[in-house]
Amino acid sequence: MTTSDNVHSEEIEKFGAKAERWWDPTGEFRTLHQVNPLRIRFIREYARIRGQKIVDVGCGGGILSEALAREGGEVRGIDLAPELLEVAELHALEQGVENVRYEGISAESLADREPESFDLVTCMEMLEHVPRPASVVAACARLVKPGGKVFFSTLNRNMKAYLLAIVGAEYVLDLIPKGTHQYDKFIRPSELAAWARAVDLEPLGIRGIEYNPLSRRFRLGKNLDVNYLIAFEKPL
Ligand code: SAH
Repeated sequence: MTTSDNVHSEEIEKFGAKAERWWDPTGEFRTLHQVNPLRIRFIREYARIRGQKIVDVGCGGGILSEALAREGGEVRGIDLAPELLEVAELHALEQGVENVRYEGISAESLADREPESFDLVTCMEMLEHVPRPASVVAACARLVKPGGKVFFSTLNRNMKAYLLAIVGAEYVLDLIPKGTHQYDKFIRPSELAAWARAVDLEPLGIRGIEYNPLSRRFRLGKNLDVNYLIAFEKPL
């Protein structure tokens, strides 16, 4: 790896160190498990999953990759944390999910090697962990075939997001591990849309992931203040 790589190695180590607890539905990553069905629902609003060639960028232990494969997608999960890729592979094997495979490669390198090769690109809760998120957005735009779709999710940057996603989720409610997020890495929808526009992706739609602390449930909604999902298309 060279210093020009678009990766914070301490982020990779932080996630990799927690690999064995990735699939515990009540563990540190339970929030990812809880929001996963909402992501699948959002993707389905814009795309067919069955039979589609999909790359899941920053796949971690494979929560979204495996769900996409269960929906009939031909999935490649990529990440730079070897421990997570191992956990993802073992989990798919245990579950008998065959149409998913994992690889340790960056989005940028895969885009160099296999440009315009995927019908769908997903990149969830990853952009806020890299030094240059616009470079990942550009790589996703290169990975997708013309006419294909690209999906991102990340955290918005404003006072409410700081209070809910960091103070609330990490310290008060203990929803996600302390130190998971850094406020200045959060991304406003307008910023993400501008990076996407710069690489000719057209916006299709955006939804918020809202949390109700009383019911302790997540749902898709109009409120984009904290966590949001956004879909783009690469024109034909
Ligand atoms: N997308 C998964 C995991 C999110 S956690 C999900 O939502 O379920 C963030 C993931 O991004 C971690 O697995 C981490 O290893 C990965 N990551 C961070 N920087 C990366 C980079 N530069 N390239 C690829 N993956 C990266």
